[in-house]
Amino acid sequence: MTFESFMFQDFIYQALKESGFEEPTEAQEKLIPLIQKGRDVIGQSQTGSGKTHAFLLPLIDQIEPEKKEVQVVITAPSRELAEQLYQVAKQVVAFAPSEIRVTKFVGGTDKQRQLEQLQHRQPQLVIGTPGRILDMANEGALLIHKSQAFVVDEADMTLDLGFLPEVDQMAAKFSDDIQMLVFSATVPQKLRPFLKKYLTRPLIEEIKPKNLLSETIENWLISTKGQDKKQLIYQLLTIGQPYLAVVFANTKERVDEITEFLQNQGLKVAKIHGGISPRERKRVMRQIHQLDYQYVVATDLAARGIDIEGISHVINAEIPRDLDFFIHRVGRTGRNQLKGTAITLYEPSDERPINDLEKMGIVFEPKEIKNGEIVSTYDRNRRKKREKTTEELAPETMGYVKKQKKQVKPGYKKKIKHEIDKKDQEKRKLERRRQQRSAKSQKKNSRR
Ligand code: AMP
Repeated sequence: MTFESFMFQDFIYQALKESGFEEPTEAQEKLIPLIQKGRDVIGQSQTGSGKTHAFLLPLIDQIEPEKKEVQVVITAPSRELAEQLYQVAKQVVAFAPSEIRVTKFVGGTDKQRQLEQLQHRQPQLVIGTPGRILDMANEGALLIHKSQAFVVDEADMTLDLGFLPEVDQMAAKFSDDIQMLVFSATVPQKLRPFLKKYLTRPLIEEIKPKNLLSETIENWLISTKGQDKKQLIYQLLTIGQPYLAVVFANTKERVDEITEFLQNQGLKVAKIHGGISPRERKRVMRQIHQLDYQYVVATDLAARGIDIEGISHVINAEIPRDLDFFIHRVGRTGRNQLKGTAITLYEPSDERPINDLEKMGIVFEPKEIKNGEIVSTYDRNRRKKREKTTEELAPETMGYVKKQKKQVKPGYKKKIKHEIDKKDQEKRKLERRRQQRSAKSQKKNSRR
């Protein structure tokens, strides 16, 4: 399937071209025709499936720029998620021949200013967090009642964070025939009354996330353990024999620093960043293509679009601020079924973006450098996960787990879980008794 089959207006294709999307994802293939037909949809899809474009493209395509009223309302449960949606929407409408106004309404921003702006003009596309959008609507400033489509993105998270009442109140303001699109990774029981109340004959589409990284890429995660990153990068580059390795950093200053360090260690290194003139960059790129260099240090300028064949290693000296770039960077290797290795260095402050990357469906293999070799190591979350592993089980249960691994019988998982739960209960009971005993003896002692 191609994007052409959706018969969008030209400007949508221009936006897609700029994004570099070649063909629709599975989510887009399934959802766009349904949304174009005006159906209510429950999209059970996760981040990484391309769902954002799946609803934004057909909805933006249907906006009538000459009507200066709110036509589409989209809610997200956090400011960050709203911001992401807003950025994608802005990128698309930037190509529209007649202006399509997109406004973001989130908490923590200047409400008064927004109220004033709304007196002059209404946006056609509203994106924001439920509380602030409802607030603006209740003030009578944002007129949402004529909207033709309402999207609730990340509905399960909206529910978890306690924003469903706001979304409900908002939904009550629309006309009965509004098109409702609800996206949620899961459909918890508590969400069902809302769906029943507002959605008419909804179609439920379950979509798995697309494979973000090529199968041929080994994706390693290495903790710096407080060591100097430049030194670590040097080690990583010289342990194996990379055919061509690209080190990515977030700023041109960092690229300069890393390049200088590696050059001082005697490596022949090329660098690419926005501070280098386009002419010089072109020259360097040509040399890289000719394999004059084995090592390249670059900013994200080289992560998108620039195609260098045969990159065997990608090293992320830092995690990119925009996580999409992680995929672009790592995707520089493992092309055309060739093997590739991506290595991301991380320190404790990177925990959050790494968790976010994992939520997007990226799987890391934890590694460390030991005696000059790269070896597998334990998962950084092992403490959290330990309760679930065999390490902590009593010997008899461990034997049970091991034996069962070989001969898988139906229901074995349940049985093991039952055993583990039983053990946990016993442990807790013992612990409670121990605490009671020590409390008693303390009491006694204090009386003496
Ligand atoms: P989402 O699931 O909407 O968060 O999208 C996940 C990632 O896929 C984002 O980085 C999008 O920019 C990207 N993406 C969306 N649609 C496509 C497509 N058709 N081709 C390639 N990448 C896409």
